[in-house]
Amino acid sequence: MSPSAHARLRDDLRALLGARVHDRPEELLVYECDAMTYFKNRPLAVTFPESTAEVAAIVRTCIRHRVPFLPRGAGTGLSGGATPTRAAVLIETARMRQVLHIDLDNRFAVVQPGLVNILLTQAVAGSGFYYAPDPSSQMACTIGGNVAENAGGPHCLKHGMTAKHILGLTVVLPDAEVVELGGAMADPPGYDLVGLFVGSEGTLGIATEVVVRIEKQPQSVRTFLASYASMSDACASVTDIIARGVDPAALEILDRLTIEAVESSVYAAGYPREAEAVLLVEVDGLEAEVELAAREVTTICHERGALALEEAREEEERRRLWKGRKGAFGAMGRINTDLLVMDGVVPRHRLEWILEQVYRVREKYGVTLSNVFHAGDGNLHPNISYDGRDPEETQRVLAAGEEILRLCIEAGGVLSGEHGIGVEKRDFMPYLFDDVDLDLMRRVRDVWNPLGLCNPDKVLPTAKACVEARGRMLTLDSETPVPSATDVAKGEAQP
Ligand SMILES: Cc1cc2nc3c(=O)[nH]c(=O)nc-3n(C[C@H](O)[C@H](O)[C@H](O)COP(=O)(O)OP(=O)(O)OC[C@H]3O[C@@H](n4cnc5c(N)ncnc54)[C@H](O)[C@@H]3O)c2cc1C
Repeated sequence: MSPSAHARLRDDLRALLGARVHDRPEELLVYECDAMTYFKNRPLAVTFPESTAEVAAIVRTCIRHRVPFLPRGAGTGLSGGATPTRAAVLIETARMRQVLHIDLDNRFAVVQPGLVNILLTQAVAGSGFYYAPDPSSQMACTIGGNVAENAGGPHCLKHGMTAKHILGLTVVLPDAEVVELGGAMADPPGYDLVGLFVGSEGTLGIATEVVVRIEKQPQSVRTFLASYASMSDACASVTDIIARGVDPAALEILDRLTIEAVESSVYAAGYPREAEAVLLVEVDGLEAEVELAAREVTTICHERGALALEEAREEEERRRLWKGRKGAFGAMGRINTDLLVMDGVVPRHRLEWILEQVYRVREKYGVTLSNVFHAGDGNLHPNISYDGRDPEETQRVLAAGEEILRLCIEAGGVLSGEHGIGVEKRDFMPYLFDDVDLDLMRRVRDVWNPLGLCNPDKVLPTAKACVEARGRMLTLDSETPVPSATDVAKGEAQP
């Protein structure tokens, strides 16, 4: 963009928002990436609207100047979703953080999108309610960002991902029109446009108000930490717990390197450093059902050879056990300057197999890789710590990451469980979807976003990337073939 066009754009934005437009290089630095630090690109300007009307006015201005724009919450995204790929205007929701309305009788609240996730629970906790989706980043990430990514969290195993908790939305569409989708009443007729918008990663418009479901806090909660001499025993416990009909709220595994990082950090939780893996299990619900579930969990962990099984006796101990899990990504900062957090998913019974493959890939590429993951959902988070200033190491890390995601797909899984596709995994989409699927998604996007100005270059691959990916699909060098479902059923392969 020429300096004069840039100046005209800035003047028009300033006419709308005054000082709530930032465009000095030092102000823009922090907005050049999200928590996926590999992709960096500074925006033209960052705007701080306070209302739906102001968001619509910014979008109108961008359209007039033919400049791309994209929403941003807290920038904790892990797939580059809030990182501009072109000279673009960021629409930052940090000043739209009000709880607008709480209706306990009908169990919903209306909030602005920039509200930090944990503050929603804090707003209703005094009345015995809470907001269930709990990303580990919940102290920082926003409800708008959660909607855009269909965020998950440790307790989404039982309580469901963000999509299950969003009833309605006010959205500024990419042509600046304002629409209301869904609402507080259950299941309105017509197409489920709320369902379509949730998980659309900022490519279908900007949510400016969100109607969320709130839940009654469970009567009883019990939390256990089992430690194991092998990852395989920890994974087998997870499979058994689900197979025997227990419905835990959370089932989270951390491996040895993660335990070491956590225990050496401010998030130290007293996890046993000698264990190869720890399994954090939480059961919640009515007292009688929790009692039964806790008994079953205890039996299974012992049957699967747990070295030790600790139960949190009071809330303080429960908080301590969770502190290590929730702080695990932060603790990785001790290992190196940068972190690639991956997000592949496999069917639960493939967990042991995929972890063997992940450790094989670690050796093959010589990378520092640790695992902390939502085991109950089969949602892996292999974390590769590296020095982003070293181009050779960075390339090895990216290659290892791609290979792991392809193995997840080979195992019958998918590319992302909760962090979204963004720019990070966009060009891997052809590994999972064929041209017909991708074309349908493209057509849906183009109806909502016909000028392509709203968060361009995200989620969907270019035609060239599709051709290249199809070529690479022939070359995956997985040394251990994925056992087929029939092999597993016949007992000829370890699930
Ligand atoms: C330490 C750490 C732990 C994490 N743990 C989890 C976890 O357990 N589960 C999980 O799911 N994720 C997790 N994440 C990833 C991240 O926190 C989530 O993806 C979160 O939902 C992003 O929210 P945000 O406000 O930071 O959004 P941003 O990063 O600012 O944006 C994310 C995407 O949302 C879009 N967007 C933002 N606001 C709006 C809006 N109002 N309307 C439309 N689109 C919008 C952006 O354009 C972008 O595409 C973690 C991240 C970190 C750093």
